[in-house]
Amino acid sequence: MAERPHLRGYSREELVAHFGELGEPRYRADQVFRGLHERRLASFDEMTDLPKALRGRLTETATASTLRIESRYTSVDGTRRFLMRTADGNPVETVFIPTENRDTICFSSQSGCALNCDFCLTARLGLLQNLAAGEIIEQIVLVLNDVYGPGGETPHGTNLVAMGEGEPFMNFKNLMKAIEIMSEEKGLFIVPGRITVSTAGVVPKIREFAALERRPNLAISLSAANDTLRDKLMPINKRWPIDELFLAAKAFEKTLKRGERFTFEYVLLGGVNDSDGHAGDLAALLLKHDLRKAKINLIPHNPAEPLDYRPSSPEQVKRFKEILEENGVSAYIRTPRGRDIYAACGQLAARQEPNLIQIAAR
Ligand code: SAH
Repeated sequence: MAERPHLRGYSREELVAHFGELGEPRYRADQVFRGLHERRLASFDEMTDLPKALRGRLTETATASTLRIESRYTSVDGTRRFLMRTADGNPVETVFIPTENRDTICFSSQSGCALNCDFCLTARLGLLQNLAAGEIIEQIVLVLNDVYGPGGETPHGTNLVAMGEGEPFMNFKNLMKAIEIMSEEKGLFIVPGRITVSTAGVVPKIREFAALERRPNLAISLSAANDTLRDKLMPINKRWPIDELFLAAKAFEKTLKRGERFTFEYVLLGGVNDSDGHAGDLAALLLKHDLRKAKINLIPHNPAEPLDYRPSSPEQVKRFKEILEENGVSAYIRTPRGRDIYAACGQLAARQEPNLIQIAAR
């Protein structure tokens, strides 16, 4: 049986064309687009502004939702982790991170990940599947509905980060399509400026990304300033070593407008990449490539069994930041969120510990 089209992953134009083929007028496509995105409805059946016959026809021939929330966990710091499943039963994790000013949703671009970074728990899943554009969007819709009620207003607006399971730039087309659809004013209306995509360093895609007119913010995961160490920590470095990565980063930087910045993420691993010397090398690398618009996000390692790493001491994290700053590099320490429920960076591996506190479905 041919798979039914997942209409949540259709752009407005594609939806209009699809409804044209069904012999339906354009405004029906607009109603369905609003229903799926602005109103965040789960099914065509709930679109009571459509004639009943059309609702029935859509339900039979197309899909509005494919993901299912299997469990939710809530952290002592208010972070929530949603473990979802695709139609094929593959895990997808999405994390809701409340902050005082704005809420952030961290979504997955793939189920599992192929990159095998040595310090990341998601790597242990391997790559299970690329997510379709509709599945990427559904994560946001499901989380917003769960947190604010179905279709409920988001009080502070939402930031999105593509930092969940997977390597976003290994699923480039679907990710960029999802981002375009989510930016629609008559839909979720989350504009690219509110979205950050993080890559482990897929160089050709960084270059493709740099050429785009309308695009989200970029973060590059670095975690080592020399090839020997980075080869070990992030095997993708063997394919695209630091020099190639930094040439692409420089090409990207050149396309930034005044006031725009981009980020390198550096996971601090105690005794591995966190010495004063490492900090100096990192600053020197940025200066060598004349990256003036780059800032460094320092992420203390989030431990998780069976990962063989420990976080740096808080004193060393501070020291590392100071050395960067003394060398003219902006650096920020990222506060870990949701560690107790396996929701923090690098901890997403579909964990279902019975001792984690599950929160009831809305
Ligand atoms: N694959 C992409 C998107 C994932 S973002 C990327 O690597 O950029 C997840 C971030 O968490 C990356 O910056 C990664 O380096 C970091 N990370 C992975 N494991 C971690 C861990 N155990 N503790 C802290 N950060 C980790």
